[in-house]
Amino acid sequence: MTLATEHVNVLRTNGATAMPAAKMRNPVEPGPAEIPSVDRLLNARAFQQLLAQHGRTQVVAALRTHLDSLRHAALEGALARASLTDEVIAAAVDTTLAEAARPRLRPVFNLTGTVLHTNLGRALLPEEAVRAVARALTAPVNLEFDLQSGRRGERDSGVEGLLCELTGAEAATVVNNNAAAVLLMLGVLANRREVLVSRGELIEIGGSFRLPDIMRRAGAKLVEVGATNRTHLPDYAAALGPRSALLMKVHTSNYAICGFTKSVTLAQLVELGRAHAVPVAVDLGSGSLVDLTRWQLPREPTVRETVAAGADLVTFSGDKLLGGPQAGLLVGRADLIAKLRKDPLRRALRVSKLTLAALEAVLALYRAPELLAERLPTLRLLLRAPAHMQAQAARLRPLLQCSVGEAYQVADAPMLSQIGSGALPIEQLPSYGLAIRAARGKRGSLERLDAALRALPRPVIGRLAEKTLWLDLRCLEACDEAAFDTQLAALRP
Ligand SMILES: *Cc1c(COP(=O)(O)O)cnc(C)c1O
Repeated sequence: MTLATEHVNVLRTNGATAMPAAKMRNPVEPGPAEIPSVDRLLNARAFQQLLAQHGRTQVVAALRTHLDSLRHAALEGALARASLTDEVIAAAVDTTLAEAARPRLRPVFNLTGTVLHTNLGRALLPEEAVRAVARALTAPVNLEFDLQSGRRGERDSGVEGLLCELTGAEAATVVNNNAAAVLLMLGVLANRREVLVSRGELIEIGGSFRLPDIMRRAGAKLVEVGATNRTHLPDYAAALGPRSALLMKVHTSNYAICGFTKSVTLAQLVELGRAHAVPVAVDLGSGSLVDLTRWQLPREPTVRETVAAGADLVTFSGDKLLGGPQAGLLVGRADLIAKLRKDPLRRALRVSKLTLAALEAVLALYRAPELLAERLPTLRLLLRAPAHMQAQAARLRPLLQCSVGEAYQVADAPMLSQIGSGALPIEQLPSYGLAIRAARGKRGSLERLDAALRALPRPVIGRLAEKTLWLDLRCLEACDEAAFDTQLAALRP
């Protein structure tokens, strides 16, 4: 099939250099009349495999386009006779259709150094979740069916038990993502009423999630409390009134306020809320189900301790530190969760059986926390030993150097990875990788190399900064290394 590509290229080159006037045509070159017809080609042997694979509609359309280009070349006297055999035409059509059939959503190598990269799909799911999704996709499931009573059941009752077990909450429900969870909570519990939030916590998360905007869309009125760097308990107390629906705390996921600062603890806020019968809600953002310091990772508040501190509702993401599918989880007081469940907004934000199947499988892994570091890919990546990545960098450096040529200089270098998705914005994890710079006196362009890496069959996504292309190896696990190596040859200048 590469033969055809070569012929097409020949055709193009000739076309570009040929004299435009048809009268200059060399009489031995074929004319338009010699181009075979669509009908004849569709019956030719060379086309049967294509028809079986892509169907008549697509083959006819691609074939017509290709024959048009041949006709055009013939008129310009730039058609090679070799382009007219059935096999060569079929191969050209095959190349076009194979390109069109290539999925647009494709696996890439995430060498950005950001483990939970929102633009690259965040958490990678464990095999258990993949199998659960495949089962739910290919067989009917008791999604909203209570097997005991034989009646209609609740969509998320399967994961509710697990979520309560793992967080200590009374009740739980699931929607499409954490932004949806916050929208639902505000829309149902604070519509046309006031929500008190510290000025230090009015976050914007990438992808246009801004707390004040979500608040407005939910029909809730934001009451800003305190100052950006300091908020005190009396600030909240003074802002409470008859229209107060919620006291809300937002985890400042992607920034930290340092210096002369003061914030009110959740316990203090809960005490105030109880005294005035106003529920306290916490948007935890990433929200971990386990204490990460157990693995010497930086501390992130857990959902369990937030519930234990008295929060009435807690929302968090399924695909950040939890390491599951995209989802927004709400846990907390049973009466509040029941209210959320009944609302039409919840129906509009409900998750699919695929999400629930994957989520249940991932949550089940948390029942064995001591095995989590092996089983949960997100945690496994966060815990990779720098020495492993250093050895990997030493192995890959000569291969990459050979592939990019002497216009570039490849070095193995220590670097710092991030958890990503707003978790622990300040903390960085020591990592190792390859640093590529343009060689002195040579004309290597890092932008061009970056683009070439992105054009590989499985695109390689690095990070371009400080006149260096950084390839952090934290997310290149041993099982993927061979696939990474193999395609490097395609970079050779
Ligand atoms: C990430 C984040 C969100 C949005 O969660 P998604 O699951 O991406 O919708 C909301 N609030 C906080 C604090 C976050 O960190």
